[in-house]
Amino acid sequence: MITGGCLCGATRYAIDAQPRCTSYCHCEDCRRASGAPVVAWTFFPTGSLEWTKGAPKLLSFAERERGFCPECGTPLSFYDPAIPDEYEVTTCSLDDPSLLPPRDHNWVVDRLPWFETADSLPRHEHYSE
Ligand SMILES: [Zn+2]
Ligand SMILES: [Zn+2]
Repeated sequence: MITGGCLCGATRYAIDAQPRCTSYCHCEDCRRASGAPVVAWTFFPTGSLEWTKGAPKLLSFAERERGFCPECGTPLSFYDPAIPDEYEVTTCSLDDPSLLPPRDHNWVVDRLPWFETADSLPRHEHYSE
């Protein structure tokens, strides 16, 4: 069981599945929703996550659903109906993010020129699995 939650502890989740992949996302929507230059996401099969304490506030933007803690605002989840079998959580909301390092970069077309990571991971202009 993989567990995680928000900064204040009001919203917690547990996932009963192995992660499918882990990625950095450089897209502008993730930047604005997080206030950070890049967001690391971990992908799980849809339906494998259970909210074990509280529930996220779900915001629909650009036909995609983002979940935040309603108390502290921590970005927690992402769901795109165009990719119905995947459900994403922010890697850094996991209780042990060190176990799931990102394996690639998505939406590099939006990458900020002043933000660079020292890695040789695959870089995708847009989205790639
Ligand atoms: Zn919270
Ligand atoms: Zn993104």
